[in-house]
Amino acid sequence: MNSKVVTRFAPSPTGFMHIGGVRTALYAWLFARKHGGRFILRIEDTDKEREVANSIPHIIESLTWFGIEWDEGIDRGGPHAPYLQSKRLDLYRAYAEKLIAAGHAYPDPYSESELEALRNEAVGKKQPFLFRDHRPAKLSPWDGRQPLRFRAPRIARYEWNDLVRGRLSAGEEAIDDFILIKSDGYPTYNLAHIVDDIEMGVTHVMRGEEFISSTPKFLSLYEALGATAPAFATMPVILGPDGKKKLSKRDGAKDLLDYRAEGYVPEAMMNVLALVGWNPGTDQEFFSKDELIAAFDLSRVQVSGAHFDEVKLLTINQHWMRTLSDEEFIARGDFHDADREKLRAAVPLLKERARTFREARDMLAGELACLFEKPALNRGKLVAKEPADRPGMTKSALEGLLGLVQALPSDVSTGTVKETLMPLADAEEKKGKGGRGAVLWPLRYALSGQERSPDPFTLVALLGAAETVSRIRAAIAILEG
Ligand code: GLU
Repeated sequence: MNSKVVTRFAPSPTGFMHIGGVRTALYAWLFARKHGGRFILRIEDTDKEREVANSIPHIIESLTWFGIEWDEGIDRGGPHAPYLQSKRLDLYRAYAEKLIAAGHAYPDPYSESELEALRNEAVGKKQPFLFRDHRPAKLSPWDGRQPLRFRAPRIARYEWNDLVRGRLSAGEEAIDDFILIKSDGYPTYNLAHIVDDIEMGVTHVMRGEEFISSTPKFLSLYEALGATAPAFATMPVILGPDGKKKLSKRDGAKDLLDYRAEGYVPEAMMNVLALVGWNPGTDQEFFSKDELIAAFDLSRVQVSGAHFDEVKLLTINQHWMRTLSDEEFIARGDFHDADREKLRAAVPLLKERARTFREARDMLAGELACLFEKPALNRGKLVAKEPADRPGMTKSALEGLLGLVQALPSDVSTGTVKETLMPLADAEEKKGKGGRGAVLWPLRYALSGQERSPDPFTLVALLGAAETVSRIRAAIAILEG
């Protein structure tokens, strides 16, 4: 790359950070990082009707959580501040005046109803309506109250290169006299983003497919302004679960922070989104941030729609959760009021089984709730596996276990617990009838009070010998009562 790379992410404040937008931001950021360039965050708030309150803090929070830092932009400042388009109106106006002076722009003299009549006339003649066919013969000076239109050049064919899609082209029908500044004084997207990309020295523009058809407009405006257009890279569409249609809200297209609430870690979101539409050309599936920066290459971004696979997301999320230290796991898991000591003991089990922090929280509230409070026991369930011809067998098994557990050290591994207690269950197995279950079930039930729980050895290790003793005693008391 000869000139210094500058990329940007330019969301509109519409209240939602869908994963397609986040993926675009990610690729623009990876590209800048890979080439030692700069990444800008700019907010495009020129369409006041679509604006949703509090979008900007939402965008900032989303990208910050996700883990991409911007070198300049909103909330951070930089040489091209302000980075909020509604605070740059003078600049757009200055560009507009320049275009008027050079004969590239003119005020639109028509009222809404006059325009409507011209449109209807074209429809009546079965012709496409083109504003450029109705340019006023005599121009009035622009007073800022009428829309300002671009005087589109007539170019038979537009061709350009897209870094992902290769040569693209459009015929002259692709460009009409589009509006540069609206009657409310705000610039259109077409003018504002081009002025900003020029002013901010943007070299590479990554964005969605919906902008391809407008590229001839952009190119002719760059030319009218005497500026060189940046390189364009069009991102692949993100497809929904059926692999055909674009991912929509109805398919569950979610906001990035919904994934945070569901207990996904940002490392996994970044890893998985990088792979939606890009591949490293190898089998590598897990990528850290630094590995992504090193491996990312625009030439491996695909043209066709890319599938967002939530099953793969679960696998990747579990991978990144497991790389956290136990301390980080606890700090990041949002485990509100769980007893820290017990939680610490449960982390290895949570890492083994939970694929998201939400699953981990659900486990703590469900099958692992017994770690935090003593279970309420039911006599019938306790003796459910007792062979009919050996009344009292459950009680004696529990007494035998009690003796063995009392001899255990207070802090003990699951392996040691198993080695210590299993012989008792094996001996029962040899007797036939109830089998190991006749010993292990009452133990597991005495400790958990649940039909579904981790195995009894794990429970003993998690609860510790003293608490195990107390729970076995409580079970024996029920049988005696
Ligand atoms: N503000 C535009 C959007 O949110 C950005 C398009 C662009 O990146 O140029 O769709």
